[in-house]
Amino acid sequence: PITNDTPIEIHQICVCVRKRPLNKKELTKKEIDVVTIPNKENVLIHEPKLKVDLTKYLENQQFRFDYAFDQRIDNLVVYKYTAQPLVECIFEGGMATCFAYGQTGSGKTHTMGGDFTGKGQQDCARGIYALAARDVFKLLNSKYKGQGLYVEAAFFEIYSGKVFDLLNKKAKLRVLEDGKNIVQIVGLLEERVNNVEEVLDLLKVGHATRTSGQTSANQHSSRSHAVFQLILRKGQARRMHGKFSLIDLAGNERGADTNSADRVTRMEGAEINKSLLALKECIRALGRKGAHLPFRGSKLTQVLRDSFIGEKARTCMIATISPGFSSCEHTLNTLRYADRVK
Ligand code: ADP
Ligand code: MG
Repeated sequence: PITNDTPIEIHQICVCVRKRPLNKKELTKKEIDVVTIPNKENVLIHEPKLKVDLTKYLENQQFRFDYAFDQRIDNLVVYKYTAQPLVECIFEGGMATCFAYGQTGSGKTHTMGGDFTGKGQQDCARGIYALAARDVFKLLNSKYKGQGLYVEAAFFEIYSGKVFDLLNKKAKLRVLEDGKNIVQIVGLLEERVNNVEEVLDLLKVGHATRTSGQTSANQHSSRSHAVFQLILRKGQARRMHGKFSLIDLAGNERGADTNSADRVTRMEGAEINKSLLALKECIRALGRKGAHLPFRGSKLTQVLRDSFIGEKARTCMIATISPGFSSCEHTLNTLRYADRVK
């Protein structure tokens, strides 16, 4: 497994997997843990007790990623190997993105630190949103001090192909693309932030806005992508210097809702499917010179267009997986997707 001595590698595209522990409900139901992470980079799915050889579903028997985090590894360590190495790149004029991808309930929001309801709340300060913000301010006030840089934050969600501002009462926003391929979200609120506390306050507002009017927080969040951005700007003209986008994606199992009897659910599912496919292709293209970028394939990839372009664009994806036997189909789908991203 990952230890304190595991070196941090620099990748333009970093793809990792994070397995969460079995939860209380699963333990009560005597769910069996079918996921094994034997070393720092491999993930195996198997079920010895049921004598079901799950490997027959797999093309390669086992999966290998840049890092594989087992259930004992906390947010701080996950952060250290995934988003932290990207922070400095935005000060060097780069664009960084970090995605949490996976089935609903597998730990995307826990990893990002976006759960401001009840139990998980104290963990938010130790999630990737807050940890990245901490390091952005740290660098701003040390190595990059005196360069006239400052930070703004934006938080929006993409639901059924439409953009809603989470810092502005869920205002529905238009996305425009000018002749120079610059994509702009018209009227998106970008708030100046000066420290981690202010960032956490904004995240709290955004989270409340996101879940308002919803019967269950997970119901809605499983069907929308939440995009949080820390934008480095310079001077009165607010020239953009660099941007870090941190994204809590819609539950990937929703892409299968295209078979649902309900028309709205079916359309939402189709949109999620489309955006996750376009995302995969855009990330893959990032690693290949001259590759075609199908960023117009979905609203998600369209608004992230500038993050996929140029030599200074860097991305990491954290694929979160549930350990239980009953999730294994979804877990395999997640692993296959993550495997294809790189
Ligand atoms: P998702 O956002 O992918 O739907 P959540 O992040 O909401 O999933 O996680 C579902 C539940 O599992 C939450 O109660 C969360 O606190 C818990 N959980 C997720 N990942 C972990 C982890 N690595 N360690 C402990 N609890 C976790
Ligand atoms: Mg979530």
